[in-house]
Amino acid sequence: MQIAERMSGIPLSGIREIFEKAQSIPDVVRLEFGEPDFDTPEYIKKGAAKALKGGKTKYTSSFGEKKLREAIAHKMETENDTTCTGNNVIVTSGATSALCLSILACVNPGEEVLIPDPGWSSYVPIVRISGGVPVGYPLREEDGYQPDLNSLSRRITDRTKMILINSPNNPTGGIIRDENLAALGELAKKHNLTILSDEVYEKFVYDGGRHVSIASLKGLEDFVITVNSFSKTYAMTGWRVGYSVAPEPVAECIGRLNGSTNSCTSSISQAAALTALEGPQDSVKKMVDEFDRRRKIMLEGLGRIGNELSISPPAGAFYLFVNIKKTGLTSDDLAMKILLDGHVATVPGSAFGGLGEGYIRVAYANSEERLREGVKRIRRVIESI
Ligand code: PLP
Repeated sequence: MQIAERMSGIPLSGIREIFEKAQSIPDVVRLEFGEPDFDTPEYIKKGAAKALKGGKTKYTSSFGEKKLREAIAHKMETENDTTCTGNNVIVTSGATSALCLSILACVNPGEEVLIPDPGWSSYVPIVRISGGVPVGYPLREEDGYQPDLNSLSRRITDRTKMILINSPNNPTGGIIRDENLAALGELAKKHNLTILSDEVYEKFVYDGGRHVSIASLKGLEDFVITVNSFSKTYAMTGWRVGYSVAPEPVAECIGRLNGSTNSCTSSISQAAALTALEGPQDSVKKMVDEFDRRRKIMLEGLGRIGNELSISPPAGAFYLFVNIKKTGLTSDDLAMKILLDGHVATVPGSAFGGLGEGYIRVAYANSEERLREGVKRIRRVIESI
């Protein structure tokens, strides 16, 4: 059987590689996961069980259940300050699918999509699968991981169609500042580009920081597709529910694509997602407060290891992007050494793009006890270099 040529542009994720290796090592401290370690809140599970018992086991509309689309639109209006209705919302199988279908709906083969570097490791394959050409724009530690508008402008060509932004960012934890969001919006308008805004970490903000949806900025309604998910906010990664919010003609295309590639998102998961939005939100706050506590434990613990490691405190998400340049090792070599010698799984920064080299990503989605154990082991490995 011959494999299609497109597969050569779809590498195995750098996260997956560490994950596979970690399986064969006993008692590994898992700091590589990109998902909350919390269980889905009980009231959401009950909502799913009720739907299951009530026979909600059939196909739904490819666009998503009407009630869920409307509840998401209400959330976007009340929490994100955007103007929309259920017709702007398409329910997808996670943000991953929402990103892919949004690009398929807007980007012609060969057109360029600007993506953050470092950025989530799936952006490159998602853009390529959708027929686009990924072009990285830099997020540098010395700029507080803010997009540099000058370098971004220099990357715009007559083939550029879209700018993908992710705030709070995976892996850096950076949040795009208001003035930079506004400038990005102006740039997109000037060049008639679509902004694809991945907001899956919107609730994970710390130190009084706040998340702003770029779609809420005046005059940008027609330029922005917002992507979000229930995965992180409600600890529902396995349920696979996300969504795109787009101008109606684009939403309609995303819905049609969803129908052709996936029929619909799981009916049970959609019922769970509706319960999640309509129920009490205190579980979200509790989880984020716990992440904040762990973030401080890790910043302090890793910060005390010595000169070799340094960290710019992240304002959002649940990762530390640890600068390892002074160890003299590549991020691949150090992550592997930490795994093999210290039995701690982290992700090499190289998995997130060229500018991720010189960093490792440490997720604090684990118990306090395991995090402290992880710090102890990382210290031992660093001291042995
Ligand atoms: N976007 C970012 C930045 C992520 O880090 C992830 C998952 O790690 C996703 C999207 C995918 O989320 P989902 O589970 O909704 O597909």
